[in-house]
Amino acid sequence: MDEPINSRNIIYIVATPIGNLEDITLRALNILRNVDFIICEDTRVTKILLDHYNIHKKLIVANAFNEANQINKIITEIKSGKSCALVSDAGTPLISDPGTKLINEAIKNNISIIPVPGPSALIAALSISGFPSSSFVFEGFLPQKKGRQKKLMELAEEERTIVLYESTYRIVKLLEEIKQYMPLRKIAVARELTKKFEEVWRGTADEILDSIKTKTVKGEFVVVLAPKDFK
Ligand code: SAM
Repeated sequence: MDEPINSRNIIYIVATPIGNLEDITLRALNILRNVDFIICEDTRVTKILLDHYNIHKKLIVANAFNEANQINKIITEIKSGKSCALVSDAGTPLISDPGTKLINEAIKNNISIIPVPGPSALIAALSISGFPSSSFVFEGFLPQKKGRQKKLMELAEEERTIVLYESTYRIVKLLEEIKQYMPLRKIAVARELTKKFEEVWRGTADEILDSIKTKTVKGEFVVVLAPKDFK
């Protein structure tokens, strides 16, 4: 059954696939089909999803580079009675993704923020890690320079499961740091979840580096670290 799309004063926060285009809810598709416009990070990425489902919609770009400049335009459009959805390049918007400023401005303007839940790489990786998940710490991307060492030292003492995001360029560096700061820590490294080259490595950072370094490893990664004393 189609959900009626309220046309006024709403931003739907719509989760989209993290790789496999089939990982999208019926409700998300219904909303994307029925809103007046979609706010996205990169039109090329969002068009791949929309084309796959034959959805043709006006796109407005709001990303890390232009979000501040786009806010007034978007709020004005919504207040004029238009409905909209916010998506990111992958997964759940606002989870290590832009949009915080926009959402806060929308809240100030009495615009309702409605979640349309779905995939997130963080939950997908945590769910297959085998580590306790009733309480965990999500750190997203570690700071690249300032504060990185301090954060790694803090994480070495963390008694909960830890989830980190990492890119192709720094995955080996991150594993080398985990090896240095937490040599015995059990970890799970999930690459390209839901995609063709999905792969999961389990062991210590040292053991995983051995297998990762023997090949050219590309893609997107989630690194899940077991709690400090996990056996
Ligand atoms: N909002 C997204 C979410 O809900 O997962 C995360 C966006 S963040 C900018 C992108 C990072 O998420 C990537 O660098 C990677 O660490 C992780 N990621 C996204 N898709 C992934 C996938 N299919 N497999 C593994 N990690 C992924």
